[in-house]
Amino acid sequence: MLTNRSVVVSKKEMTLMEKIYLPAIVKGLWITFWHMFKKPATVRYPEQQREWSPVYRGLHVLKKDEEGRENCTACGLCAVACPAEAITMTAAERKMGEEHLYKEEKYASVYEINMLRCIFCGLCEEACPKEAIFLTDRMVPTEYQRESFIYGKDKLVEPTDNRVDITKRQKQLTEA
Ligand code: SF4
Ligand code: SF4
Repeated sequence: MLTNRSVVVSKKEMTLMEKIYLPAIVKGLWITFWHMFKKPATVRYPEQQREWSPVYRGLHVLKKDEEGRENCTACGLCAVACPAEAITMTAAERKMGEEHLYKEEKYASVYEINMLRCIFCGLCEEACPKEAIFLTDRMVPTEYQRESFIYGKDKLVEPTDNRVDITKRQKQLTEA
């Protein structure tokens, strides 16, 4: 026993009204009827969506610099900081002629986040010294296969021609 707390169970006889159940059924129907006129606590997702909190932590993005080069230098600090062990990566050395692709001499040739393990705590973002990984206000979409939740660079790195705006959430964080 973990605690000394105990509950005394009473076995008192049911009254006639309790035995016939009808008052309880009528009471249940009344409660259901009453709730039909109350504001529902749920929304019809996905047609309706709730407004996110300004500091909502959603799908990650691997950012590029102004010149379109990947910021990540595969230092592994995000993976070490991750309490869910959701991040894995493979480091590679930048070759001659790849300076326009990767900002640092070392980069992540493979970078994966297992979204089923991730608890969206944001510690990877805090640990990153290169401003390479950020959580965004985007949702991780539903999938049918577990493997589809392993997000690689194809889904994480922001496209140069379609940048992911992180300023709104970052602004809220600095103001908080
Ligand atoms: S948000 Fe948290 S759990 Fe998810 S990858 Fe980053 S550190 Fe790991
Ligand atoms: S995202 Fe940041 S912390 Fe993680 S490996 Fe890249 S540079 Fe290091």
